[in-house]
Formats: sequence, structure tokens, C-alpha cells
Amino acid sequence: MSETKKILIGLALGVVVGLGLAGLPDNVYEIVNPYILSPVGTIFLNLIKMLVVPIVFFSIILGVMGLGDPKELGRVGSKSILFFLATTALAIMLAMGVASVLQPGERGDFQTTGLEFESTATEESSNIVQTFVNMIPTNPITALAEGNMLQIIVFAALIGFALIALGDKAKTWRQFVKQGDRIMMYLIHLVMKLAPYGAFALIASAIGGIGLDAVVAMAWYMIAVVLTLFLHATIVYGAAVYFIGKMSPVFFFKNFYEAMTFAFSTSSSNATLPVSMEVAQKKLGVPRSISSFVQPLGATVNMDGTAIMQGVATIFIAQVFAADLTMTELLTVVITAVLASIGTAGVPGVGLVMLALVLQSVNLPVEGIALIIGVDRILDMLHTSVNITGDAACAVVVSKLEEKHLPPVDEDSWDEAGATSSSSL
Ligand code: ASP
Repeated sequence: MSETKKILIGLALGVVVGLGLAGLPDNVYEIVNPYILSPVGTIFLNLIKMLVVPIVFFSIILGVMGLGDPKELGRVGSKSILFFLATTALAIMLAMGVASVLQPGERGDFQTTGLEFESTATEESSNIVQTFVNMIPTNPITALAEGNMLQIIVFAALIGFALIALGDKAKTWRQFVKQGDRIMMYLIHLVMKLAPYGAFALIASAIGGIGLDAVVAMAWYMIAVVLTLFLHATIVYGAAVYFIGKMSPVFFFKNFYEAMTFAFSTSSSNATLPVSMEVAQKKLGVPRSISSFVQPLGATVNMDGTAIMQGVATIFIAQVFAADLTMTELLTVVITAVLASIGTAGVPGVGLVMLALVLQSVNLPVEGIALIIGVDRILDMLHTSVNITGDAACAVVVSKLEEKHLPPVDEDSWDEAGATSSSSL
């Protein structure tokens, strides 16, 4: 049986057990979750997270070496960022459109008194200038230790440039990076053998902890989010991979769903990164040099699924609090949500924290988040899947656009490739 099938079975069993737990008295979940489900899920997640920083570090260096020319990296980078910004803006507009039509906030009796939500998001996290300035690590070891993805990307890219420029003089380091990457890939395959059990525990724990009453009360809100996620993935990504990437959307989704399943179980773009890069390279044929740069960047700054949740949530909360949003306010929501998406870390639940910033930008009550917090854990699984699909769609699109510029690098000869292209710096 294939690994993906096993994960799917784990997921399905997890859903069944989770629903069973949600239906049983609370104290059953309170025993089963902390002693069985949560530890198994967390051990699995930690094993993956343990590998994320070294994998990103090594693959970005290899990616830059594979591109062979700083100009190429500039082109790949700017095209990716353009794709990220455009699709995120589309995502949030689509979300607000769907929520305005379905009107989830008008369907139900939502109590607005006594709601509490402590916002921990700071203005700084949505400040785009600050985000750019902070990309440069003052101490790369701290960046690696803290898992600051943008800083790791910058540091690793610079090392990649240096290795190209130094050619033979840095031969040992090139070997080190290449072998480091191999070691991490080997370990990820090992850890993935536990994926069916990890997925089972994570899903059962998430679903079991959700009050079924909350799901029923929030059904229209959830329908609006899920519908928009579906429309965005099929229409926007489908069109992008078809028209620009020249790839059949059916082929794209059929092959990429393995990574989507994984994102669904972990609710973390970062933890899914090793899997999504591998699927993009091996099954979608994205060159390794493009995938190892575009996907880590996307997992850090591109969160269309999260933006969709925020768009629907904003309209929902406005409806519940009977606040009318003007055209300018709607535009403010689009801009803030796009910026918030850049500042959202690819780990579970951050999108909800960043929603506070979006609400504050148009003076909507942050306490409204208390209404949706109960069902966010479930939706997070779905919007994380869309988040990483956007990164893969971008990798497919950019590799098509860059096809004619890419040096014909065979990954096994990366050390030689670095040496031969050293003249380009
Ligand atoms: N869980 C999301 C991710 O990792 C981020 C979020 O929306 O909280 O992509």
C-alpha cells in the first residue's frame, strides 16, 4: 500500500474517532487527548519541525547554486512575489464577495455581549517596511535557532552566492551542503513512515476538541470559508497552472494532493515544506533550483487560505455587529490582509491572531474573534492546505516562465555546476 493511502486511512480513522469523541461526554476527551492523541501528534509534528530549519537552509543554498546567476534569482524572486501578492489580493476579494452573498452573520442568533478576545498581534507585525528591514539577520545563528524563516532564506541565499563566486575554493562547503541536504531528506523519509499515525492523532485530537454545537451554530460561516477555499484553489490556481504554467489542473491537483493531505493533518505550512517541495519536484517536475527557493519563500509569506478565512471573518463580524463597511474600508481590509498574510508565520493558529489587525484597521470589534475561535482549528487545516497549494502553483508558473533561462543543472553535479558558473558573479 502506498504511503499516501496509509495517511488517508489514518486521516479517515482520525475523523471517525474525533467525531466519536466529540459526541461523548467531555471527560472522555479530557483523558484520551492529553495522554494519547496529543502526545502522539506532537511527537510526530516535532520530528518534522526538527528538520524544517536545516532543510530550508540547505535547499536554499542548493537552489541558488542551481540557478547559477544572481540575476536569475532576482527574476525568480520578483515573479514569485508578484504572483503571491496578486493571488492573495484575489483570495481576499473572493472571500468578501462570497461572504456578502451568503451572509453568514445574518443567519443565526449571535450574542455579542460578553465576548472577550485578547489581541496579541502588534502593529509592527503588519508593518511592511519593518518586515523588509527585519529580513536581514544581525545574527544568523539566532535566526537559525529561532527558526526565523525570512532571515534564514536571506542568509542561505547569500551563502549560495558566495559558493558560486568562490568556485573551487569552497569545494568542501559545497560538498557539505549537498550531503547535508541528502541527510535531511533521508531523515524526512524516515519520519514520514510515522505520518499515518501522526495524522490520525492530530485529526482525532482536533475534531474531538470541537464542540459539535459550535459547528452547527457556525455552519454558514464554515460553508462560506470552505466554498471560497474551493473556488480559489480550482479557479485561480487552476487557471494559473493551465494558462501560464501550461500544465493540466487535473494533473496538478492529482499529484499535489499528497502534500495537501499532509498540510491538512499538520495545519502548518512550515511543517509541510519538506513534503510539498518533494512532491513539486518529483511529481510536478518543478526544477529543484526553483522549488527550493520559491516554496520556502511562499510557506513564509504567501497565505491565500488564511487571507480567505480573514476576508470571510471580517464580513461575518461586520454583519453580526451590524456594521456597514464602505468601499474604502473594504479596500483597507484587502491591503491589511495581504500585508498580514506576509507577516503570518506558517504554524497553526497564527492567522486568527493576525485577524485582529485586519479588524482593527476598519474599527471592527476584535472580540468578534471569540465567535469564530471554536471552529478555527478545523478551518485552519483546510486553509493551510490552500496556503501551500498556492506556493506550488507559483513554483509551476515560475518554472515555466523561466524555462529558457534555467541552466541545465543535473542535481548530482551541483558542486561542478557551481564551479563552472563562478564567472557569472
Ligand atoms: N496554519 C497556517 C499555515 O501554517 C497559518 C494560519 O493561518 O494560522 O499556513
